Amino acid sequence: MAAKKLCETFSKSLIDEVQKWGCMKQTGVSLRYMMEFGLKPTPKNLLISAQFLHKELPIRIARRAIELENLPYGLSVKPAVLKVRDWYLDSFRDLRAFPEIKNPDDEKEFTQMIKAIKVRHNNVVPMMALGVQQLKKSIALDNIGYQDLHEIHQFLDRFYMSRIGIRMLIGQHVELHNPNPPPDCVGYIHTKMSPVKVAESASEDARAICLREYGSAPNIKIYGDPSFTFPYVPTHLQLMVFELVKNSLRAVQERFMDSDKVAPPVKIIVADGIEDVTIKVSDEGGGIPRSGLPRIFTYLYTTAKNPLDEHPDLGTADLVTMAGYGYGLPISRLYARYFGGDLQVISMEGYGTDAYLHLSRLGDSQEPLP
Ligand code: ADP
Ligand code: MG
Repeated sequence: MAAKKLCETFSKSLIDEVQKWGCMKQTGVSLRYMMEFGLKPTPKNLLISAQFLHKELPIRIARRAIELENLPYGLSVKPAVLKVRDWYLDSFRDLRAFPEIKNPDDEKEFTQMIKAIKVRHNNVVPMMALGVQQLKKSIALDNIGYQDLHEIHQFLDRFYMSRIGIRMLIGQHVELHNPNPPPDCVGYIHTKMSPVKVAESASEDARAICLREYGSAPNIKIYGDPSFTFPYVPTHLQLMVFELVKNSLRAVQERFMDSDKVAPPVKIIVADGIEDVTIKVSDEGGGIPRSGLPRIFTYLYTTAKNPLDEHPDLGTADLVTMAGYGYGLPISRLYARYFGGDLQVISMEGYGTDAYLHLSRLGDSQEPLP
């Protein structure tokens, strides 16, 4: 059924080409390589980078398009998923239609095109979430076996991980064209990023949302040296800390909302090791029952009400809420793993939760290539 649908809107030759490119080998890049390469954005280097992307992006995109076609339980034909698949096929076609990149003029035109591709895919995560939501609505979740749930989860992990990589590569290339980059920035990478400062900014954002939703918010204390820096992508770190702090604020808020006791602050500790920079987000929000722990990293698990159920007209426009999509932890872990880090959550039921975010300091691990 899925295949039939595909042929109705896309030509056979396109589908054949997707199959062919989807089998080709992907090439990973490390944070360090991106940084060193980007230090000298000469016309020659930009040309090399564009030529690499011209070959690499269609391979990565084709893989995702094929996977989107083969999901269990009819997830592939949910309207939102079909839309996402069409974005991938359109982008694949744009890339393959672009002729060989030979000179700086071609390179500029190519850069404009991939910039547009990045915009086309802006809403992939909420749109896929909507697709999964549509699946949840059409069958009772209890009727889906554990194995299938696991398969959907694994697929989403690969899919979103790949998306992080594609967006990093495009964004990095586009940013290298900036004639006045901010000091110490190489594309998306900040060569002297202060994790304490990023944690401060993410905490403020999370507190603002908590205030908006509950009318009050617990305090946050950050421990660590603000002058300590290392090369990393601040937008990635901001996103991860934001999600972890939101979870902690929600837990503390819910636990102390109706109590006479003062809510204990959420603590953030930044440690600079030799291999890793580790950021611990620690709260006294009551923890997570041990039976729930295996599920917290899945895309289908949340203990909050789904905002789309509460406000069906919300669409996919406003996804920045306190909780409810169940995406905070799994997506944050992907961002951490993308550059060789990891995320662990340890809970003491009845007391609180510690989330350990490990960031690899060396920056030499290759992108994971699902
Ligand atoms: P969401 O916040 O949208 O529910 P997350 O992936 O961020 O999705 O978290 C999944 C679930 O894990 C939450 O709904 C909550 O039940 C539990 N959880 C996560 N962090 C904490 C925490 N610090 N304290 C208590 N429960 C937590
Ligand atoms: Mg959350």
